Amino acid sequence: MITLALSKGRIFDDSLPLLRAAGIEVLEDPEKSRKLIIGTSRPDLRVVLVRATDVPTYVEHGGADLGVAGLDVLLEHGDGLYRPLDLKIARCRMSVAVRADFDYAAAVRQGSRIRVATKYTHQARQHFASKGVHVDLIKLYGSMELAPLTGLADAIVDLVSTGSTLKANHLVEVEKIMDISSRLVVNPAALKIKRVALRALIDAFEAAVGQGS
Ligand code: ATP
Ligand code: MG
Repeated sequence: MITLALSKGRIFDDSLPLLRAAGIEVLEDPEKSRKLIIGTSRPDLRVVLVRATDVPTYVEHGGADLGVAGLDVLLEHGDGLYRPLDLKIARCRMSVAVRADFDYAAAVRQGSRIRVATKYTHQARQHFASKGVHVDLIKLYGSMELAPLTGLADAIVDLVSTGSTLKANHLVEVEKIMDISSRLVVNPAALKIKRVALRALIDAFEAAVGQGS
């Protein structure tokens, strides 16, 4: 049996066409069913539904053989996973955003300490260190946009796609840190033990990504 870890929402939705192109149908709609383990048209492949940030943990510790996770989540998680493929889904960027009335460039130029709220503390620390900008990082788990509006922080590091959430909250994107997309990750031990089956699946995903772009 091969176990694939996916998260509900955009990663599941964007993985479906790739699975389909690989000849695999998922047998249940996670939005309608409460099941956390769902079968597929391939009797030897099942999908487990976990939180997006838990996908690397499941794959690293063998709760799943492979999974789909955003680069943002993977970089915060750290090493320990084989990352064979950029699936080019759930694309967005990690950026710095500030309140429209905060002069970020001036704060950087003057060498001020900037208070930055984010879920991505590792990436943020690395980014500002590489620029030589002094920051106080404030770890949050959600709704980063609220932090500058309430005075909790001067800036946020968050994911941006269209920018409409930032705009709705009177925030402006001032710096892109990196492009983000979702990656296929594989448990290295599973890849040895179930090499033939996993290799075939990875190849099928790779072919499906190629068709899409
Ligand atoms: P939740 O929203 O349930 O708290 P989450 O934010 O971890 O959990 P998703 O919103 O489904 O889960 O995001 C999953 C992945 O999709 C992220 O890790 C990121 O790689 C990508 N992503 C997040 N926001 C966007 C976006 N606005 N546009 C495109 N991709 C995004
Ligand atoms: Mg989200």
